[in-house]
Amino acid sequence: MIDNRLGEDYEALRKTVEAFAHDEVAPVIGELYEKGEFPYDIVAKMGRMGLFGLPFDEEHGGMGGDYFALCLALEELARVDSSVAITLEAGVSLGAMPIHRFGTEAQKREWLPKLCTAQALGAFGLTEAGGGSDASATRTTAVRDGDDWVINGSKAFITNSGTDITALVTVTAVTGTKPDGGKSISAIVVPAGTPGFAVGKKYSKVGWNCSDTHELSFTDVRVPGGNLLGEPGRGYAQFLSILDEGRVAIAALSVGLAQGCVDECLRYAHEREAFGQLIGHYQAIQFKIADMEVRAHTARLAYYEAAAKMLRGEPFKREAAIAKLVASNAAMDNARDATQIFGGYGFMNESPVGRFYRDAKILEIGEGTSEVQKMLIARDLGV
Ligand SMILES: Cc1cc2nc3c(=O)[nH]c(=O)nc-3n(C[C@H](O)[C@H](O)[C@H](O)COP(=O)(O)OP(=O)(O)OC[C@H]3O[C@@H](n4cnc5c(N)ncnc54)[C@H](O)[C@@H]3O)c2cc1C
Repeated sequence: MIDNRLGEDYEALRKTVEAFAHDEVAPVIGELYEKGEFPYDIVAKMGRMGLFGLPFDEEHGGMGGDYFALCLALEELARVDSSVAITLEAGVSLGAMPIHRFGTEAQKREWLPKLCTAQALGAFGLTEAGGGSDASATRTTAVRDGDDWVINGSKAFITNSGTDITALVTVTAVTGTKPDGGKSISAIVVPAGTPGFAVGKKYSKVGWNCSDTHELSFTDVRVPGGNLLGEPGRGYAQFLSILDEGRVAIAALSVGLAQGCVDECLRYAHEREAFGQLIGHYQAIQFKIADMEVRAHTARLAYYEAAAKMLRGEPFKREAAIAKLVASNAAMDNARDATQIFGGYGFMNESPVGRFYRDAKILEIGEGTSEVQKMLIARDLGV
């Protein structure tokens, strides 16, 4: 039987986050965005609400929910603002999830309770200046020295890596050579403040202005051998599986932005007059809004399907890539159309759709570009 109605718990969560985004995020985010300030108060409130712990076990400080619950929260937040949504997405799906999936019990007990309440944020350091899509091009190295790892290298564009509450970054590093001559890549947790671990200046970005993004460098950074996450040499594969899940989350966030464009345009179409009529009376505007709703709706179905397969424990790589591709396109197209419907006001930073326009493009790039999604889909189809 097909039943894609949300269950009671999911619907209650969705409504709670919708109200939070409306009451707590919408009134303050425009000013924070203008100033490029990290939304510490909002993050602390989301921590108290349990949003950072949604998919994690209660015994490790989480809410005992699942990944779909996280996706619903991301969609509702991104309907209002994507900087806040990506801070949650990166904190949960990239910062804490590798520890939840691959950590030892000791690592989980050390890190997860803080990460689940947003008293601390974790970051995910895969991308380097020399390779984002080709993540196997990692040049950062980690060499065993007695009981320690000594890390040298750098990472680029790392979200949540330089806030006052950032506690760790899990990095991929080359730790040896495989029998076939390829790089053996492992994942290692580097606590913030470790000597030699330097956080570079905050990037000046086109969008996501309240999200925290830095270049990181590692010079003879020494961490205990016990900071290895999962098995040695499995870091690359572990990170790829984390990204498969992350794509469903980014798809949900993209749907939120796409739906937020519809919300704003419906309101504006009922308010704004041109040539003596509300602009909503013009079919050109009606059709644009209809197209926008179609994109948001179909992209939502795509991420629901990917999340459902993930939760059933079935392979979902192809569906995750499809959802990310469709939803990020929907976000980009809706942001462009919404800005057009708002006219000159849409080009102003103070208008929410101006923010949506600036925030949409990265969705076609981060956690795998659109071209990478097509590569994954084609590969999964056997070509
Ligand atoms: C704001 C922001 C936040 C980010 N946060 C994080 C983070 O927290 N952690 C992290 O590790 N990374 C993060 N990233 C990095 C992000 O994941 C990469 O930017 C992304 O994967 C693309 O890599 P790249 O920038 O090196 O582009 P490149 O890989 O250099 O790609 C350049 C172009 O070539 C295309 N291309 C590449 N290979 C192929 C191919 N085989 N076939 C066809 N086309 C191809 C790409 O699609 C793209 O259009 C972030 C990036 C940004 C901008």
